[in-house]
Amino acid sequence: MFRDGALQPSSDDIAVRSPWTGETVGRVARDTAAQLDEAVRGVRAAWRPPRPDRRAAILHAAARLIRERSDALAELISRESGVCLAETRKETERAATNLVVAAGEAERLRGENIPVPGHDRLALTVFEPIGIVAAITPFNRPLNQVVVKIAPAVAAGCAVVLKPSEKTPLTALAFAEILLEAGLPPEHLVVTTGEPGVIGAAIAGHPEIDMVTFTGSASTGRAVARAAAGKKVLLELGGNDPLIVLPDADLALAMQLVGQGAFATAGQSCRGIKRVIVVGDVADELVAGVVEAARGKRAGDPLDPATDVGPLISEDAAVVVERRIAGAVAANAKLLHGGDRRGPLITPAVLDHVPADAELVVEETFGPVAPVIRVADTAEAIRVANGTRYGLQAGVVTSNVAAFTSIAEALRVGAVNLNAGPHFDSPHIPFGGVKSSGLGREGISYSIREMSTVKTVTLPYP
Ligand code: NAD
Repeated sequence: MFRDGALQPSSDDIAVRSPWTGETVGRVARDTAAQLDEAVRGVRAAWRPPRPDRRAAILHAAARLIRERSDALAELISRESGVCLAETRKETERAATNLVVAAGEAERLRGENIPVPGHDRLALTVFEPIGIVAAITPFNRPLNQVVVKIAPAVAAGCAVVLKPSEKTPLTALAFAEILLEAGLPPEHLVVTTGEPGVIGAAIAGHPEIDMVTFTGSASTGRAVARAAAGKKVLLELGGNDPLIVLPDADLALAMQLVGQGAFATAGQSCRGIKRVIVVGDVADELVAGVVEAARGKRAGDPLDPATDVGPLISEDAAVVVERRIAGAVAANAKLLHGGDRRGPLITPAVLDHVPADAELVVEETFGPVAPVIRVADTAEAIRVANGTRYGLQAGVVTSNVAAFTSIAEALRVGAVNLNAGPHFDSPHIPFGGVKSSGLGREGISYSIREMSTVKTVTLPYP
């Protein structure tokens, strides 16, 4: 456990292994619920929200330190997660940007003054930090997933108890050191590691935790929400995001979007393209271009700077993807490229004529796969897009703005992007899902509000 500004000695630990080589990258403590309880009570006793300008200074300093150490951090992320260096280098920059944006927002957080008709009084609203925020994060993008929770929490003035994924906890611990060096008061941050079923549940249900912000799978999210009953909960869960391509689309753009959105992070991204829904007879040309894009991706060693697609987080995860590809092929989909498994590696796969009810596209498939579903018209595209339990983001490629707006209105998702993929991302816009994809919104300023309470103060006026 990382608490009071340092790693505490531990008699029991867990090895963190590279998905690619199997070698031990590091070891982390197997914390107990009793240790966690003591740490959370310590935070409660010591926590005093810093002034907003101090919060901003800490966040700016942390961004600076991430940029200074980006090579070492990128390598650590690649070693423990298997995500290739070309992408983890981008992840460190994205994390630094999120910190800078949070620093700006920390000084902009302000309430309203509200006249109160019928009374000679004025009401003021004041944002106060919600208190101690528990953050539970997934294995994919192990730096940025942690930053998008801690940066707004620090900006809001909250203390944080972080439980990173047991698969990728080392980056989170490295970031904790950075925050301390950047000036975060040591008693404002605990990082706990260990068995998720033990400490995850203990955090979510702890009486001194005021809010739980969770990113991970839909099934774990439901368990966390049950354990956290009665607290403020923010859930960022799975996705099964479509890219809808209409007959008048710029096909070169659509091909490029699929090449990025389906294969980035080896397909282990909540808002990656999980389904390519193509309307009409442009499908042949689009599919040919997507196969070309897949051919251009080099799969293999994540530490080789020339690698585009690293392994999945584990061999078990790759076996699931392999099985789903085989299931789709058995249901008459055509596997046109890739899809071979070597241990935890799946080579970038393109499938055409995938039936909309194949497990590959009904469930969230966390692997480098571009499954093409052909549909007759826009109405069918909308039906297929909405036909899963998820509703995170979507992209539509068309030159017809009226067609886009009617699709945007009909899709049950958190965001729709015209001529961009579902993976379009900015720290300045809200992010989150509907249906089984989640509850609440991230995006730095939106998270800060979720992590704040509004206190109303009224006073005689004039
Ligand atoms: P996961 O649900 O297995 O684990 C997420 C976190 O929950 C981990 O820290 C894990 O240790 C913890 N956990 C496990 N059991 C727990 C329990 N009983 N109580 C409390 N915590 C528990 O998810 P994962 O495999 O690490 O990540 C992949 C999933 O995350 C995918 O479904 C992906 O779509 C989703 N995800 C969503 C977003 C988003 O913003 N919507 C972003 C990234 C990933």
